[in-house]
Amino acid sequence: MPRLGVLGWPVAHSRSPAIHNAALAALGMDSWRYQRLPVPPALFAQTTRALAGSGFVGANVTIPHKQAALALATRASEAAQAIGAANTLTFCDDGTIAAENTDAPGLIAALGRVLDSPAHLRALVLGAGGSARAVVWALREAGADVAVWNRTPERAQALARDLGVRAVGRAEPADLLVNCTSVGLEDSGLEPSASEHRALNQLGLGFDQIGEYSYVVDLVYRHRSTPLLAAARAHGASTVDGLEVLVAQGALSFALWTGRQAPLQVMRDAAYSEDQAI
Ligand code: NAP
Repeated sequence: MPRLGVLGWPVAHSRSPAIHNAALAALGMDSWRYQRLPVPPALFAQTTRALAGSGFVGANVTIPHKQAALALATRASEAAQAIGAANTLTFCDDGTIAAENTDAPGLIAALGRVLDSPAHLRALVLGAGGSARAVVWALREAGADVAVWNRTPERAQALARDLGVRAVGRAEPADLLVNCTSVGLEDSGLEPSASEHRALNQLGLGFDQIGEYSYVVDLVYRHRSTPLLAAARAHGASTVDGLEVLVAQGALSFALWTGRQAPLQVMRDAAYSEDQAI
């Protein structure tokens, strides 16, 4: 049985199994299975190497293993090397492990829902963690003028130096805003309006400022709209949510492993129906 999975710690809430198993079923690939692979950091390398000899064709990689996945791979794409992280491993027949980063092209593909191309647009990226690195690299490669803001400015400066973009000390106006922080993940328990203001403040933004961005993407996904996307919609911006980005990167990984075109709408339906379930 060809197997696929997602390596993470924790990984219990990952939507990837639902998304990929729906795609496998839609394409009649009944002998394939995609499963959660909860692996603590200390066991990541040995477990991942063992997957190769256990019928696994490939694996997605999520927090906190994306850098370790790149380090472990036998070879890595130019994108994964430039970003410094891999979210997709392929276990090849010759025993080698190939690393790819589909977060970056996934972001560009998801943006395609609202925008032909980010080329020549001014983009502000919030955050300086793993996903911010992929997003900054993707937007820069696509020809956008990219600035990055982070709560801890030194991390934004380091990311900006590595990837050849600008770090900014406060959120500046732009055409496109992408939230790559984890702000908005937790349901605060506050009234929606109070929760929205608190989350925006954590991002160095006020409610009125959100009107300065025509396109807003939030990588965070949860069962209710995030505070950032709620504010963006209130201002009439075109928005892309985190599930759309998750589906887009998953579709690219799926095509790499199976050689088949991913059934995007099936994957999207599975992602959002899981959303209803929580
Ligand atoms: P990460 O490497 O841990 O980075 C977290 C970032 O969030 C850092 O920039 C951190 O700032 C910032 N942050 C955390 N708490 C904050 C707060 N209270 N106020 C302001 N900034 C705060 O995480 P990641 O891998 O980049 O992931 C970030 C988010 O994106 C997560 O919610 C993840 O689930 C989501 N994500 C979604 C997708 C998708 O496909 N939709 C893909 C990847 C990630 P400091 O540097 O100051 O700590």
